[in-house]
Amino acid sequence: MKIHDVIIIGGGLAGLTAALDLSRYGYDIVLFETNSYPHHKVCGEYISNEVHPYLKTLGLDLLAEGAVEITDFEISTQNGYKTATKLPLGGMGMSRYALDNLLYEKASQQGVKFFFSKVSEVTYKDDLFFITANDESYSAKVVIGAYGKRSALDKSLQRGFSFEKHSWLAVKGHFKNSTFPQNLVALHNFEGGYGGLSKTEDGSVNFCYLTSYNSFKKYGDINEFNRKVVSKNTYLKEFLDEADPVFENPLSIAQISFQKKESIVDHILMCGDTAGLIHPLCGNGMAMAIHSAKLASELIHHFLEDTTYDRAQLEKDYRQVWNRTFKRRLWYGRKLQHLLLNKKYIDAGIRTAGASKGLLKFIIAKTHGKSIV
Ligand SMILES: Cc1cc2nc3c(=O)[nH]c(=O)nc-3n(C[C@H](O)[C@H](O)[C@H](O)COP(=O)(O)OP(=O)(O)OC[C@H]3O[C@@H](n4cnc5c(N)ncnc54)[C@H](O)[C@@H]3O)c2cc1C
Repeated sequence: MKIHDVIIIGGGLAGLTAALDLSRYGYDIVLFETNSYPHHKVCGEYISNEVHPYLKTLGLDLLAEGAVEITDFEISTQNGYKTATKLPLGGMGMSRYALDNLLYEKASQQGVKFFFSKVSEVTYKDDLFFITANDESYSAKVVIGAYGKRSALDKSLQRGFSFEKHSWLAVKGHFKNSTFPQNLVALHNFEGGYGGLSKTEDGSVNFCYLTSYNSFKKYGDINEFNRKVVSKNTYLKEFLDEADPVFENPLSIAQISFQKKESIVDHILMCGDTAGLIHPLCGNGMAMAIHSAKLASELIHHFLEDTTYDRAQLEKDYRQVWNRTFKRRLWYGRKLQHLLLNKKYIDAGIRTAGASKGLLKFIIAKTHGKSIV
């Protein structure tokens, strides 16, 4: 059986970025992805500028590819209170349909081999990995787990959270709305959840929300839920009243877990959501997925080049740098989500943040990283 240098499981932002980064050194890389490109994904599609310089070093200038520049942020509560600020670093709006496809095309050009099938098993023996996908076996020196929030693979790896039920679900659609500002990302709170609005490269506005299953289950139907719960926030009502849906049906996902996860499992280096999902209200999951792929790629390059740098050291270094870079952000994300969904504190919290723009910027900075190259 051929031994590949690196096998990547999952071709979202984390997997594709690692493939692009490592392929610059000429390694033999295989990436497994369940769905062919391009495809839509449930995501707010606001990407923080902190990864813009790094993506440029990989040959991807998202603004040149049509991403929308986003400079302003606003947040509102269900009771109609709204405050706004300039974003410290700013960001870009681009659909996952376009973004993931861009990375896929670039990685293919750089020699990454893509297999469109689902990985069902990974085992590690005698310093090598063995992967099963579509009843075929593959082998590699290094495996990156970049298969997102949740996959059947988590169960086969005995990851605790995968055996539990999780109470969050998310809905996303694109809309035509001529009045929504080009440079804005807006976050609007409603009972049991919150929704984000921002423009994408083709001028449509992405509306993506997260809600607790408890809040949703009384209605069980997205249109009904939008009318009875989401639209209680007047800003969301105004938006939905004026907007024309682009998708025939919105996309939805359930069983979203925000539990703590391990960044290494059975010697597999986990990247992106597979290592930890930040609450979507932070708007930083995509940047974290890209950044974690960069961190893993640097160490994997070291491991494959230098025979004195062993696997134990690789794993120790990855765990340390992952924790140092992301653990605090995840902690702030959890606290913020708690505040935003707490009926008692949300109004006072947003009013206090609104009265002191410095405080709002401080909170945004705590859930984001610095620019990376
Ligand atoms: C409601 C919501 C809104 C969000 N909004 C934003 C936002 O505005 N800004 C932001 O920065 N972040 C946002 N995020 C977070 C962001 O979407 C994620 O952090 C990001 O997509 C993580 O990328 P990833 O590569 O880790 O995973 P993914 O993009 O999910 O990619 C994982 C890939 O693995 C594939 N896969 C799964 N299992 C297997 C398998 N067994 N074999 C092969 N392939 C497999 C899947 O098909 C998928 O393509 C949001 C998240 C949610 C839930």
